[in-house]
Amino acid sequence: MTEEALPVAYVGLGSNLEGPRDQVTRALSELDRLPTTRLVSASPLYASTPMGPADQPDFINAVAKLITRLSPLALLDQLQALEQRHRRRRQRHWGPRTLDLDLLLYAQRRQTSPRLTLPHPGIGERNFVLVPLADIAPDLKLDGVPVARLAATLGDDGLHRVSPRK
Ligand code: AMP
Repeated sequence: MTEEALPVAYVGLGSNLEGPRDQVTRALSELDRLPTTRLVSASPLYASTPMGPADQPDFINAVAKLITRLSPLALLDQLQALEQRHRRRRQRHWGPRTLDLDLLLYAQRRQTSPRLTLPHPGIGERNFVLVPLADIAPDLKLDGVPVARLAATLGDDGLHRVSPRK
């Protein structure tokens, strides 16, 4: 298969513990080193106020575009192993974590299974996902609507860019 024909996957990154900018920056280069996977582009880093409990540090978020020969579940396995390597700590739902990786989209795949839902169910209502996704894939459509339009509709409350485009 030529590289152009490989599935494209988008991954959302988030961290709010133990040097979040560094966690996310390191994770981006680690994504590029996953087996049979290449990082095509990455959004700038954003700071966002936490969803859920407010008594926790702000998050750093970004979105990465990958091409991969891994299946969706094999990619999820790799993302979860990477989270573990960042000594992911997570005491409560929506609480602080050293690294959170969400498989947002995998090609045109739609599935609901115990381990993996695609597209990731949170995409549409989270500006810290949609705004960085719109930076790298403005014309990508979710349910027929371009990501850039969805991001503009959601607005950028609680979100600001902290690094230039890579
Ligand atoms: P969280 O740590 O809150 O992101 O949730 C992780 C759990 O969500 C794991 O048990 C995954 O198997 C499950 N999950 C379902 N769909 C996805 C997805 N698209 N990306 C990442 N995790 C997912």
